[in-house]
Order: sequence, then structure tokens, then C-alpha cells
Amino acid sequence: MQFQKAELVISAPDRRSWPDTHLPEIVLAGRSNVGKSSFINAMCGRKKLAYVGSTPGKTRLLNFFNLDDRYMLVDVPGYGYANISKQQLLQFGRMMEEYFNEREQKKGAVILVDARHMPSEDDHTMLEYIRYFQLPIIIVATKIDKVSKSRRAHQLSLIRKDLQLQDGEQLYPFSSATKEGEEAIWQAMKTILEA
Ligand code: GDP
Repeated sequence: MQFQKAELVISAPDRRSWPDTHLPEIVLAGRSNVGKSSFINAMCGRKKLAYVGSTPGKTRLLNFFNLDDRYMLVDVPGYGYANISKQQLLQFGRMMEEYFNEREQKKGAVILVDARHMPSEDDHTMLEYIRYFQLPIIIVATKIDKVSKSRRAHQLSLIRKDLQLQDGEQLYPFSSATKEGEEAIWQAMKTILEA
């Protein structure tokens, strides 16, 4: 999608820094390296809005992206670092809990998984976590360009089965390299944001 304005409003360590707006928000979560920054850049029609390959360890901040004063994307730090400390894990948990318990603008979530692999335990945990709050969820299978065309349908059905996707939880293949899936995913995100 093309936006006139797509900007990082704030990287917020806690609720005191959340932007004081009433824009509908959608949360983006996924393992580090899943392609989340590339996804954000592609979806917003920007090259460097979210920093691709950002250094591991930024586990404490929620990034709020304002799109045309219409929508807010809330980027959750990539999870799944092998070397994350207990302290960082606790901070991550607290930050998520604070947001999901208290942020009234939240409308739904996108969980990104790598199309080439079965979802990790962390992916399962995140899905369960967001299901608990009964928010609409979109699953995006990233890097689909790396899966051969003949294997795609099968691979997606394995992921769907593994995550035990429920009614209304849709799985979309996506590639930031080819832009496959971009239109369909924006439609799904808009439906959630405008509900
Ligand atoms: P993040 O850590 O989740 O933000 O992931 P990044 O967006 O930084 O991407 C991690 C790596 O995967 C980078 O080397 C990207 O170039 C690569 N990547 C991201 N999306 C795609 C994609 O759709 N296709 C391919 N082939 N590579 C991708």
C-alpha cells in the first residue's frame, strides 16, 4: 500500500510512552529474522521504515508506526533469541501483558511465521497468548518465494495443521521479495482495523 505518511512515532518501553492517539492498532509479532521488518517496509511501501536486520537484543520496545493518521502498526520485538536472559524475557512478558491488558486501541494481531519451517514453540506460545485476548488474528507465512511452487500448498497446509488454526484465523503466504500476498494481507488487516 502507498501511504502519504508512514512514520515511526515512538519506540516505547512502557505505557507512559504509548502514543496518545485513538487510531486503531494492529500488532505484528514474529520470531527474530522471520522477515518482520521486510514485511513492514513492503506493506507500507517504504524501503527503510523498519530496520531490516536490526541487532538482536532490542527486546524491550514496542515500535508504533503511524500510517496516514489512519492506522497504527505496533511492532513487537522479535522473539526466540537463544541467548536471551531471564531478565529480558521477564521484561518482554511484562511489556506484552501491559499492552494487551490495557491498550484499548488494539484491534487484532498479525503473527509471522517462516513458510519454510514448521512453527517454533515460541510461535505457538505467541499464538496461544493472543488467542487468550480473543483478538482477530492473521497468520503470515513469510519468505514464500523460498518454497518451490510445487510444495507451497502442502507446506501451508502443514503449517495450518500444526498451529491448529481455528475458524477466522487465516493463513496468508507472503514474500517481500516478490510482493506476493501483499494485497490480500492488506485487505485482511484493513478489515480488522476498520471493524
Ligand atoms: P526480522 O528480524 O523479522 O525483522 O527480519 P528481516 O526483515 O530483517 O529479514 C531477515 C532476513 O530475511 C533478511 O536477510 C531479509 O533480506 C530476509 N527476508 C525477509 N523477507 C524475505 C522474503 O520475503 N524472501 C526472502 N527470500 N528473504 C527475505
